Amino acid sequence: MRRPAVLLAIALAALLAPAVAAPVHQLSSRNKLLLVSFDGFRWNYDQDVDTPNLDAMALEGVKARYMTPAFITLTSPCHFTLVTGKYIENHGVVHNMFYNTSSKLKLPYHTTLGVQGWWDNGSVPIWVTAQRQGLKTGSFFYPGGNVTYQGEAVTLSRKEGFLHNYKDEAEWRANIDTVMEWFTQEGLDLVTLYFGEPDSTGHRYGPESQERKEMVMQVDRTVGYLRDRIRLSGLESSLNLIITSDHGMSTVNKNASDLVELHKVSNFSFKDIEFELLDYGPNGMLLPKEGMLEKVYEVLKDAHPRLHVYKKENFPKSFHYANHSRVTPLLMYSDLGYVIHGRVNVQFNNGEHGFDNKLMDMKTIFRATGPSFKRGLEVEPFESVHVYELMCRLLGIVPEANDGLLSTLLPTLREEAGDAAPSTSLATPPSGSALLPSGRPHLVTGLLVAAILLAKVA
Ligand SMILES: [Zn+2]
Repeated sequence: MRRPAVLLAIALAALLAPAVAAPVHQLSSRNKLLLVSFDGFRWNYDQDVDTPNLDAMALEGVKARYMTPAFITLTSPCHFTLVTGKYIENHGVVHNMFYNTSSKLKLPYHTTLGVQGWWDNGSVPIWVTAQRQGLKTGSFFYPGGNVTYQGEAVTLSRKEGFLHNYKDEAEWRANIDTVMEWFTQEGLDLVTLYFGEPDSTGHRYGPESQERKEMVMQVDRTVGYLRDRIRLSGLESSLNLIITSDHGMSTVNKNASDLVELHKVSNFSFKDIEFELLDYGPNGMLLPKEGMLEKVYEVLKDAHPRLHVYKKENFPKSFHYANHSRVTPLLMYSDLGYVIHGRVNVQFNNGEHGFDNKLMDMKTIFRATGPSFKRGLEVEPFESVHVYELMCRLLGIVPEANDGLLSTLLPTLREEAGDAAPSTSLATPPSGSALLPSGRPHLVTGLLVAAILLAKVA
């Protein structure tokens, strides 16, 4: 950069600084926010089970017909989309498992929750953004909440142990009690709270099983307990509550006569493969050995009618998934009901997710209540990337660059929350990310002037 450009860049930074550094909301009027995720809660799980508490929440707040998760419909990637507002190829947490194609190291889901570099790879999640703008945040078991980002940790964080029992209802209530104390005694403004069900039960017994239905009843009782505790803690008028999830669940066709088994594909050999990530539901990644990419691709691309194999650059753009350095040169997914078996068949779940996010079985829930939300409103389906912008608006913070639009969920807010005071008003450009507070026209003008000048001298 030449010198005038440097000077202008400094001026630009100075102009931007107040918007980024200063809290944009009066502390006294700020509502708190609790984001709850019940892992693997399919959009229609409340339709074959009595769920009086979820029903009450819909009557007293906002319900989406369903929410479309990001692709790949796996737990960690989808949870990170919720707290960054980014599609998975833009936040880089591309799988539940940490993997390294050079060292061949692969780590399971629970271990990966603690692998700093897997999460902290350029994107700043909402906890850190909120803290940089003067708020206090907490994460209770929420994927991504266990590590630091650019050196900054979540104010309060709870991580589950290695052999954690995810379905203990008494523990769920104790966890809720702790979160209430975080709000009332520790003064937190934002907490993300995670429950590992009904995902585990859906995997083990299948989404149509009686066991899953009973687990949904347990979830519903927990929602009732949570809302009671919000009232008893005196938080009802100052806490917004969002209940959502990461993806749905579909029955695995275990006895199909046409299982997808790579070890049975003629002319395919694992000797041609440098690195593989297989036997993880309907998704697979392959790094062929040097010079073997074309051969492996040709062998696999039409090998099985239920299997869809792509070169990375040709993976459907609508998935917003493959354009990341962590994604291997070949990737694949299978049709609903089918998982991809690698060297041997080692997958025995009755339910799976990871499938195409356009399929109804992958859709999930979104419910919200609290002082900022309208009552009795059912909204049309939307993508999960938009939740982040909504949460930033609810907290009165300036979002990071992201793939969501505030305009998608703004209609769920009451007038006073939707048309917030000038100090909290955040403008969203129709085609991009919300970065500029609309209450600062001088800043916008300054930016434009600086941009024009920069364009001239650069
Ligand atoms: Zn999940």
